Amino acid sequence: MTAAPELPTTESRRPIRKREPIPEYEPEPRGKVERYTVFAFVFVPLLAVAAAVPLAWGWGLSWTDIVIATVFYVISGLGITVGFHRHFTHGSFRANRPLRIALAVAGSLAIEGSVIKWVADHRRHHKYSDAEGDPHSPWRFGDDWKSVAKGLYYAHMAWMYLDEKKTSPRRFAPDLLRDKDVVLVDKLFVPLVFVSLGAPALIGGLVTMSWWGAFTAFFWAGLVRVALLHHVTWSVNSICHTVGEENFEVRDRSRNVWWLAIPSLGESWHNLHHADPTCARHGVLKGQIDISARVIWIFEKLGWATKVRWPNTERLAAKRVKV
Ligand SMILES: [Zn+2]
Ligand SMILES: [Zn+2]
Repeated sequence: MTAAPELPTTESRRPIRKREPIPEYEPEPRGKVERYTVFAFVFVPLLAVAAAVPLAWGWGLSWTDIVIATVFYVISGLGITVGFHRHFTHGSFRANRPLRIALAVAGSLAIEGSVIKWVADHRRHHKYSDAEGDPHSPWRFGDDWKSVAKGLYYAHMAWMYLDEKKTSPRRFAPDLLRDKDVVLVDKLFVPLVFVSLGAPALIGGLVTMSWWGAFTAFFWAGLVRVALLHHVTWSVNSICHTVGEENFEVRDRSRNVWWLAIPSLGESWHNLHHADPTCARHGVLKGQIDISARVIWIFEKLGWATKVRWPNTERLAAKRVKV
């Protein structure tokens, strides 16, 4: 067991930037139905995880379920990290048309919102990180323990269903709104949610030729896999803005968290990411495993990805925190 990481001490914490109203992010109103739907998609998979432990004991989990769940975790996870995040949000590499569409589809399977919405929220996060206007900063309520606990919950998931405003895609993702293929995948988000939950059931049913096999695959590779991926992604917003190491100079509270590196497919090297957002590799220091960067490297070798923004040694050296 690793000891719980400690919050940074008062001395090491940089004061929060002054909060001023920012009119330019043009929030749009969000209806109750939308917020309740998001709430359901946050909690139903989470309940599945809670139910998973007794279910797994002795029955209901087979190797078939584990293999299907792993494959869907990796495809939808890379869709988020390589696709929604590094490609669509930050343009850290160019993708050819088939790869760009495949990444938009794969990321949608993670059920973290449609591609354009995800990108708009995340670009707003970078623009205002840990200051007024950031959709999910754990520091929004203040610096004391109680406020940070509340802030962690808000940054982890509550912002998705408590915030009555939504980020304007016209303001934050006009480039994606001009891409017809991306707009189409964005519009197909709801059918893709059904594919993400239904395909594992179909595969499980066909492999085992049984309804029970379809049900257990739906449970493990559908609900439980989505819940795990949700919470790993959201940990980057909550944990990686609260605890961890500051290897690079940033103006916010982003940190590198080593123990989330594997499940987050390299996204938990979040301090470097805020220091150099367009860099295709987040784990740039020795021993910092970054699976997503390796996948981008493979896409580059195949000729599907070009203009990859690999780490620039001099730029990074200038940003390195002096010890
Ligand atoms: Zn961040
Ligand atoms: Zn980012």
